Order: sequence, then C-alpha cells, then structure tokens
Amino acid sequence: MLTSRISSLPLKSILPCSHLLSPLRIPTRSLNVAIIGSGPSGCYALKYLLSSPLNSSNNLRINVFDKCHTPWGLLRSGVAPDHQDVKNASNDFEAAFEREEVKFYGGVEIGKTLKLQHLTSTHKIIILSHGCSTSNFPSLTSSPSPSNVIHSKNIVDWYNGVPGVIGPILNSKNGVLKVTIIGGGNVTLDISRILLKSVLKCPSLEESDIVERAFERLRREVGRVEVRVLNRRGGMQTAFTIKEFRDLTKMTGEDMGINIKKEDIEKSTNEESLTELDKSRPLKRLWKLLSSVSSSPTTGTIANLSIEYFLNPYGYTVDPSTNTVTSVKCRVTELEGEPFKQKPKDTDVEVDVETDLVVWSTGYKGEAIEGLERYFDNGVYRCEGGRVGVEGGCRLYACGWIRRGAVGIVGTNIQDARETVRRVVEDFEGGEGEGGGEGGGVEEVMREEGVEWVDWEGWKRIDEVERRRERKRVDEQIREKIVDVDEMMKIGKYL
Ligand SMILES: Cc1cc2nc3c(=O)[nH]c(=O)nc-3n(C[C@H](O)[C@H](O)[C@H](O)COP(=O)(O)OP(=O)(O)OC[C@H]3O[C@@H](n4cnc5c(N)ncnc54)[C@H](O)[C@@H]3O)c2cc1C
Repeated sequence: MLTSRISSLPLKSILPCSHLLSPLRIPTRSLNVAIIGSGPSGCYALKYLLSSPLNSSNNLRINVFDKCHTPWGLLRSGVAPDHQDVKNASNDFEAAFEREEVKFYGGVEIGKTLKLQHLTSTHKIIILSHGCSTSNFPSLTSSPSPSNVIHSKNIVDWYNGVPGVIGPILNSKNGVLKVTIIGGGNVTLDISRILLKSVLKCPSLEESDIVERAFERLRREVGRVEVRVLNRRGGMQTAFTIKEFRDLTKMTGEDMGINIKKEDIEKSTNEESLTELDKSRPLKRLWKLLSSVSSSPTTGTIANLSIEYFLNPYGYTVDPSTNTVTSVKCRVTELEGEPFKQKPKDTDVEVDVETDLVVWSTGYKGEAIEGLERYFDNGVYRCEGGRVGVEGGCRLYACGWIRRGAVGIVGTNIQDARETVRRVVEDFEGGEGEGGGEGGGVEEVMREEGVEWVDWEGWKRIDEVERRRERKRVDEQIREKIVDVDEMMKIGKYL
C-alpha cells in the first residue's frame, strides 16, 4: 500500500535533495580529486565538493596535499597568534577530514616531493589552492643584503612557528628596539601589535599560540619598542582596516602611545582624496579615527607606535662593520593623479628614519607549481570562473589567493571556492570528467617514490601533543607548536 502510494508521487517529493533531480550524470566510476593546499580556500573547496552532487555516489575520493606537515595554511602560519577567533575557522573544516572519502597528505610538496605527473596520472581533477607564499622587496643597496632587513613573512613565520625559520636579528640598543615597517596594511598592524604586546607583557600574548622561540627572545632581548610605520601615500589611502587599528588604540595608556602627525593628516586632505573620502563609508569611519588619534597623540614609557605618511624609502645608511642598516633614507612625497589612482611623487625633501630593524611589509606573491608555468601570469593562474586548463587529461581548477592574488580575508575565499566547485560539477555534468587518471594508486606512487607523509590521524596526534599542558608557558596557552619537522614526522608519520 505504502509502496504504491510512493510510486504514484512525483519524483521530486520523494527525493530529499532537489539537486538529485538535475540532469547530472551520477559518476559510476571512481572520481579522484586532488586539492593542492589545505589553507582556507582548499578547505572551502573540500567542503563544497563533499556537499555537491558529485558526492551523491560513493565513488568520490578527495586527496588533500600540503607541503606543510600540518593543515590550515595561513590560518596556522599567517594569522596573528592573538587572533584566535580567526584561527578558529579551522574548527569548521575538521569534520570534512574525518570523512572516509577524504585523505590528508601533509609534508608533500607538489612539484617537488611529488611531481605533477604523479597527480595527473592518478586524479581526474586537480584544484590548485596553494596560496601565495613567496615574498620579495627592493634591495635599495648595492652592498650585500644587510642582516637586519627582512620581509614581513620572515617575522610572521617566526612567531607562528614555521619550521626552520630563525627570525630577525633584534639589535636593540640599551634594551630599546627601533623597528621600521615599510607598508601599512593589516599584516603591518599584526606585527606591530605582537611587538608592542610583547614588551607590554600582555597576558593575551602569553596565552596565545605564539611559539616560545619568538616569545622568549622578544621578552629577553627587547625591553622597549618604538615602531614606525612608513606609508608612501597619504592617510586617505591607508591600507589597514578600522577594526585592526581600533584594537591598537585600545592598548594605549601610560605604557603605550600612538602618534600620527597633524601635518600628515592635513596634507592628506587634497581635493582628490576628499573625493575618495566622499565615496567610501568605511574610509569615513577610519578617517575619523585617524584624525582623532592625530589630534591627541600619546607617548608611552615602553611602547610606541607611529604611523607616518608621505615617505618613500629610497636607500639605507649601512654600518659596514656589522653590515646592518642604521637608518632608512626617505624622500618626502606628494600625491598626483585622479581620485582612487593617486600615486606618490618624490619631492626633494629628505628624511632619515633611524632604525635597528627594517621590515618590508609589501605583500605576498604566488608561484606556479612546476609544470604549470604556462597557465601562470603575474603571480596567479589565468582562469575563467576557476577553470585553468587540462593537463594529461586531468582538469585543473584554481581558487583562493593563487586564483585572485594575495588579497582578502579568510571569508573572501568562500565565494571563489564555491564558484570553482560549481565549475567542476558543471564540467563533470557536461561529460568533461572522462579523461585523466583512473584514480587510486597515489599512495602506491608515493611509496614507490619514497615519499613519506603525515596523514589526518597523524595530524591529530601532533595537535594533541601541541595542546598538552606540559608543553605550555601557562595553563591558558592554547598550544605550543612543534617547530621541528623531524619531531612532527616522529609523531605524525603515516606508516
Ligand atoms: C600575515 C597574514 C595575516 C593574516 N591575517 C588574517 C586575519 O587576521 N583575518 C583574516 O580573515 N585573514 C587574514 N589573512 C588572510 C588569510 O590568511 C588568507 O585570505 C587565506 O589564508 C588565503 O587562503 P589560501 O587557501 O588561498 O592560501 P593559504 O592559506 O596560503 O594556503 C595555501 C596552502 O597551500 C600549501 N602549499 C603551497 N604550495 C604547495 C605545494 N606546492 N604543494 C602542496 N601544498 C602547497 C601551503 O603550505 C598552504 O598550506 C592573513 C594573511 C597573512 C599573510
């Protein structure tokens, strides 16, 4: 009786998921997908693949590769240790890795540890989500690279526990460290905040997952800190966001001060910049805060931050005996060009900024996986809606920073991961998933190649060790990261 009632109902009312009604050809063979990179974009792609129509048969298998032995990309190695609310985005991804059809291969760098052909021969689809992890900055000197000039990536990797990173030389004089950060985005504010919190001995830093190698050295070697942030353009072109700056203003008090010069604020209000201000609500709010900080500057006894505008670094004064920079030579700039396209133009006025450490915070760049250079331009894969091309019959897609460039917050990766997965589904639906590797066998290939890896269970063991009480500075500390690859492999290697 019941059966006959069901069979008389329209199909739509029986099936729980409306997508099953689409003319999708349910895969009848195994469909192996490789995701290169387990940062936010790779993890969002994984989530959307698992909930896509492609997973309505049991034949989908998703292999996630990461060159790091640990997952989560910049959530672990970029986002500041005291921004645990952002880092917690990884909680949302864990369930996906528990699924039977998903495998994690940590410590496997595609293009190096494992060649691209090994993936194309064992997968039908590859999603490139390997982010932007290279950095460069102008040398400004003909002498060998001074030892106290670094890229922001170096200091960020150091305090976030990337294995093998030694960190900056902290040449403080009488306990005072003068740091010049060139470029004024949110990463600059992260670095400033960590340095300031360190000398202020903020419990929020002690309880964070800043690694002991950085925490201990900062505490031991730096008693006071003076951070100067140099921007080539004016206040209206500020690259950081209000939330990050407001957090810093809340730290001011007897110990800590923030300073923005009044003349910089006045010079920032040229006609073109006022047009920019008029058209942007977030900028209006930020401008109000910058102006108010500038009208009541504060000086702290042990920590100071100064945001400076209209300065273009063009050279260094180098102490040849130590090959260290003692000051950054800057030309004062003025703006030229239309609203939203204003560029800094040097004047002949010069300023010297005394310094013990120079940090170029000028962004990250992407690099193609070896063998995919021909799809690559200007630090990103050329793609249309996430589609990159076909290699050895295997379809290639991209999402995240390596698709859009190194801009945007964690949440920005949701949109393009979703779009990329939509393209994968559309292509498969259109019969495009026929070529490529038959799947299976990637582990056999890795064994043949002598590749060792950390699997998901291995990462869980590492995670547990890192969270264990005896490793921590204080009970409240979230974790003490393992910074040694051999130790990670000892705990997490897949046998
Ligand atoms: C210093 C810093 C601080 C940030 N702070 C915040 C913040 O507070 N809030 C916020 O919302 N956003 C923040 N962001 C931005 C956020 O981290 C990015 O939007 C996001 O991480 C980009 O995700 P992705 O997956 O594209 O790249 P990534 O997170 O970089 O992930 C790429 C992954 O690919 C792996 N990989 C690279 N090459 C290979 C290869 N050849 N083979 C295998 N694996 C490979 C890498 O190891 C990495 O795990 C910050 C970024 C930086 C740099």
